[in-house]
Amino acid sequence: MGLVVQKFGGTSVGSVERIKKVAERIARTREEGDQVVVTVSAMGKTTDRLVALAEEISDDPPRREMDVLLTTGEQVSIALLSMALLEAGVEACPMTGWQAGIRTNEVHGSARIEQIDPTPILKCLDRGEIVIVAGFQGVSEEGEITTLGRGGSDTTAVALAAALKADRCEIYTDVTGVFTADPRIAPKAGKLSEISFEEMLEMANLGAGVLHPRSVECAMTHQVPLVVRSSFVEEEGTWVKEADSMEEELNVRGVAHDLDVARIKVLGLPNRTETLTRLFQKLADARINVDMIVTSEHDDERIDVAFSVHEQEWEPAGQVIENHQQELGHLKILSETGLAKVSAVGAGMVTHPGVAAKMFTSLSDAGIRIKMVSTSEIKISCVIPREQAGKAVRELHTVFGLDVKESALATAGS
Ligand code: ADP
Ligand code: ASP
Ligand code: MG
Repeated sequence: MGLVVQKFGGTSVGSVERIKKVAERIARTREEGDQVVVTVSAMGKTTDRLVALAEEISDDPPRREMDVLLTTGEQVSIALLSMALLEAGVEACPMTGWQAGIRTNEVHGSARIEQIDPTPILKCLDRGEIVIVAGFQGVSEEGEITTLGRGGSDTTAVALAAALKADRCEIYTDVTGVFTADPRIAPKAGKLSEISFEEMLEMANLGAGVLHPRSVECAMTHQVPLVVRSSFVEEEGTWVKEADSMEEELNVRGVAHDLDVARIKVLGLPNRTETLTRLFQKLADARINVDMIVTSEHDDERIDVAFSVHEQEWEPAGQVIENHQQELGHLKILSETGLAKVSAVGAGMVTHPGVAAKMFTSLSDAGIRIKMVSTSEIKISCVIPREQAGKAVRELHTVFGLDVKESALATAGS
């Protein structure tokens, strides 16, 4: 008997009718002879609504309380899905993160899973039950409830699959797989039959929200066979796998975008070796994630540093720098919000010169101003004005030869 972990996202469990459909699908897998562990997200936009409630009370809600609040969304889903299975005559057992033995570190709001004790899950499986685990949550060593960051249920699923040595992990969502770009933005995006772990990790980190980046990291580390497919349409999905067995090496495999980017420029810092260390250590101490960094030297005395952050972090980042003005010695700070990042991703890029030139030409021909650039072996990213992000994604998709003739978008109810 095999073991399969299945994850159903927010849209897939967005209503009671959909929960019943999900229960039918799980029951089918069970009938085919596999043991099933399921993880679910909160229903529809529940998490967003809970965030909004907290923000009505506080401008900066305390992170511990926030986690207690947000985890209730997934708890509703596991209870209702378990009821739907029982109603259909299938034995099921709902578990919150802590009941399922999911231990995380103590970083509220973006905790990392450190360990999963599979004993409680295995006990239920031994009794012939389907185990339904609340996604996106765990418990710290001190017994505090934690969450894994928005979209973190994917990571719960893959981590469970790794801990239980499952045969595969299936991520059911509202698109039919991983596309060459977000099909909501690029109607000519096509579904990939497979993508390498490295490319998927890069796409996810660069904003392709179809998989939580840590879920890809975890699948890669533990070699979990991972497939993304639709909850609504019976269709082959996309396999995320090792690169060496890929069918072909494409130059650029996909285009990703991130709409929440801000840039901070710190002008006139002293031109000394310790300057960068000091600046970025202060930001790291405040747990601010810095993305791109550009430095430019004025003269022997002064340098300017520009960096990008998630838009939510530009205010705290600016504050940290302001608060340490004396120590850092800069003359001025400038910040800019309302930016986006578009990226071309592909493992084949490293052996194909000229990708960057093609990208810059295509963006500038479309009248899009590039504000920052960063490259790695398998990606090139540009920061641009947010209102031009959709256009940029479509332009790059076309110029890199990714367009399919007909829209392959297959979503339901959205
Ligand atoms: P779930 O609630 O099932 O976790 P998400 O909204 O988190 O679903 O992820 C699915 C969404 O990811 C799709 O509806 C799509 O808009 C978006 N997306 C972004 N980039 C891509 C991509 N490259 N391929 C497929 N979907 C993508
Ligand atoms: N419910 C959480 C969110 O909306 C986790 C998830 O859906 O994966 O971010
Ligand atoms: Mg998701």
